[in-house]
Amino acid sequence: MGQVYIDQLSQYDGQQVTIKGWVYNRRSSGKIQFLLVRDGTGIVQAVMVKKEVSPEIFALTRELTQESSIIVMGVVRSDERAPGGYELSVNDLRLVQMAEEYPITPKEHGIEFLMDHRHLWLRSRRQHAILRIRSEIIKAIRDFFDDRGFVMVDAPLLTPAACEGTTTLFETDYFDEKAFLAQSGQLYMEAAAMAFGRVYCFGPTFRAEKSKTRRHLMEFWMVEPEVAYADHEDNMRLQENFVSYVVQRVLEKHKPELEFLERDISRLENVVPPFPRITYDEAIRRLQQAGVDIQWGADFGGGDETILAEQFDRPLFVEKYPAEVKAFYMKPDPERPEVVLCDDLLAPEGYGEIIGGSQRIDDLDLLKQRMQEHELPEDVYAWYMDLRRYGSVPHSGFGLGLERTVAWICGLPHIRETIPFPRLINRLYP
Ligand code: ATP
Ligand code: MG
Repeated sequence: MGQVYIDQLSQYDGQQVTIKGWVYNRRSSGKIQFLLVRDGTGIVQAVMVKKEVSPEIFALTRELTQESSIIVMGVVRSDERAPGGYELSVNDLRLVQMAEEYPITPKEHGIEFLMDHRHLWLRSRRQHAILRIRSEIIKAIRDFFDDRGFVMVDAPLLTPAACEGTTTLFETDYFDEKAFLAQSGQLYMEAAAMAFGRVYCFGPTFRAEKSKTRRHLMEFWMVEPEVAYADHEDNMRLQENFVSYVVQRVLEKHKPELEFLERDISRLENVVPPFPRITYDEAIRRLQQAGVDIQWGADFGGGDETILAEQFDRPLFVEKYPAEVKAFYMKPDPERPEVVLCDDLLAPEGYGEIIGGSQRIDDLDLLKQRMQEHELPEDVYAWYMDLRRYGSVPHSGFGLGLERTVAWICGLPHIRETIPFPRLINRLYP
């Protein structure tokens, strides 16, 4: 039998197979050696009995270092005590490369050391669990929108202007001009929604976040749906259906990984619509009652979001923020123009905001007025204003941050482990 992956071993009970992988761990007791072999899909115990292999191979195996690459051949045997239910009785082994002394050992390492060795740390079980869940979340996000008739439209990453404020922009040279790395694809999705009705983009975005927090990366992935003819209510309904779909998918497919991460699964099982909703006004009252010194008109910090979210057992919508703390394109509430038709979705258990969404301004004059108030250059946004000239309709959309969602679903204290190679305020390596 040719190469078989460890997560498929149950199909090969009693058969001779070949596994190509790396030494995860090794111990020996005289005439018998136990290798833990990993191949990217799982870990299997490979048992080598002295009299069943050649003396050379038995001696070589004794020398194998952690993370040496090997090809092992043997017979699959079911064994209740083995992790995964199967082990391999080895009858042959080939060394591909003898690894140098591996820097990451089973002992505890400091976080900076592990981050410096991120390229190797990815091989650990914990990182495996997290990044497999991340991969599933990406698929669930795409499936949700694809199955509902959305078209995926890619937004540019090099842009001539900022979407919201300029303080967090990464600037770069674009021949004789300046360009900025995209902070959001939203404005382009508004154009796409007028062309295709329901669209989304899903890609990396860049923000030069100057404060050091557990929730901010400099480079993160965001999914941004935009829907023509959808209002603020439609937008929130879409968000709660979407978020619960993603959570339920992970529960369905990755319970073992969640258990490995010691995630409290009952908290995730709660994530079903409808999600509770409070207005910004009520959020301010609740914060004041909780003893926070905050006045109407202020934006929330991470600590405020945690206090609010902890009062509920599932994600919480906070809607209708003051216009002054939100982006220029958000539509004012017709009944109360000092607030906008927006929502933030706060994840439970202190994970903070995972979604920001809003209904957009569809009236050209109002948009122009808002842009002036924000001192935005009309020439770079000429195309965006065109969308209000040619068949403008009410429309809404939102952005969900992938890494914050992964952190929350996995129950991780910090966002740095949710992306293969995090970009942090003090880290651009590896
Ligand atoms: P915050 O106030 O937490 O900085 P924001 O208001 O800047 O968030 P939005 O501009 O609404 O966030 O972006 C939409 C989503 O993108 C957020 O809800 C969050 O999930 C994610 N997000 C924003 N900034 C970051 C970041 N620096 N790192 C990781 N995810 C982010
Ligand atoms: Mg921000």
